[in-house]
Amino acid sequence: MSRKILVLPGDGIGPEIVGQAVRVIETVNEKYGLDLELSHGLLGGCATDELGSPYPDETSRQAAAVDAILLGAVGGPKWDDGPRELRPERGLLAIRKELQLFANFRPAMLYPQLAGASTLKPEVVAGLDILIVRELTGGIYFGEPRGIRENADGDREGYNTYIYSEPEVRRIAHVAFQAAQKRGKKLCSVDKSNVLEATVLWKEVVNQVAAEYPDVELSHMYVDNAAMQLVRAPKQFDVIVTGNMFGDILSDCASMLTGSIGMLPSASLNADNKGLYEPVHGSAPDIAGQGAANPLATILSAAMMFRYSFGLGEIAAAIESAVAAVLDDGLRTADIVTEGETPVSTQQVGDAVLDKLSS
Ligand code: NAD
Repeated sequence: MSRKILVLPGDGIGPEIVGQAVRVIETVNEKYGLDLELSHGLLGGCATDELGSPYPDETSRQAAAVDAILLGAVGGPKWDDGPRELRPERGLLAIRKELQLFANFRPAMLYPQLAGASTLKPEVVAGLDILIVRELTGGIYFGEPRGIRENADGDREGYNTYIYSEPEVRRIAHVAFQAAQKRGKKLCSVDKSNVLEATVLWKEVVNQVAAEYPDVELSHMYVDNAAMQLVRAPKQFDVIVTGNMFGDILSDCASMLTGSIGMLPSASLNADNKGLYEPVHGSAPDIAGQGAANPLATILSAAMMFRYSFGLGEIAAAIESAVAAVLDDGLRTADIVTEGETPVSTQQVGDAVLDKLSS
């Protein structure tokens, strides 16, 4: 069965890191006879430059026709001062919304080889393996009304709307309970129900859905406490489920527990397991073009694509083992070296992963 992948390198370090992940995909395609078809497209600042929109119609047509999408990252100072509707991030929000990619999976796992790269004590983070399930197409990032207006006193005021419907909460809760069933069977739902009515409903609906998953132990935590607990005792968590904005913040916090944002993959899925796979980090304009970026988050995102969109867990595991073997050999880009180690380039890490996959 042919499977179609759209590759969107994006901006900044995007083309460098995606280039290495594409080599990995092509290698497993050949080795395991997977019949994958790759096509390329534009998203973000590069799309605005070439086609006048961060999410051009052409990209939208391409995205509709594939089974999965691999994205690098979008954004950069070049586009920071342009009109809001042409901001690269608008392209990302638009593709997520259009494809109804409501379930964002962000694993935060600490490779034992990198325990020293975390800013937390090794005993606090050793063995860390958390999955944050973030609702991605609702909440305050999309809620209407929104804007900046003048109030009755003549002062400007900015406003947004934090809104979740019952079906939106229910479907992300199901995804999170099912993910927990496949892992440690513990789910923590994060809200701010002591202050925000929208999250009072969130909590109520999560409790209702829990009745269908008696094998999963459900707990609730306020977001401020969750942020604190993530840095105090992160290993207490297995799966965390939360809304769009809290998930954005908590998953970045969790990512730093692991030492480098350059190691962390993500998947954003719709109800049919069509997915957009991308590293958690941004386009890192400060190191773009230097061949210094860590490609492992993108390579691990490609691994997630095999697991979640194609149901090929064994291919995902082969890629993940190759990454672990490269770390065992001590190959590290600058973001994960410890004192005394010499960093290697993006290409060298890619070469090493391919070597491990071919051996
Ligand atoms: P960033 O994640 O791009 O960079 C933060 C820091 O981490 C930088 O020092 C960078 O060099 C480093 N870093 C990131 N990825 C790395 C990698 N693979 N290897 C080594 N080091 C890496 O975040 P930022 O600086 O806040 O944002 C830069 C641009 O990226 C902005 O335009 C922002 O809007 C955009 N952004 C895009 C996405 C996305 O496409 N999903 C996400 C976040 C930020």
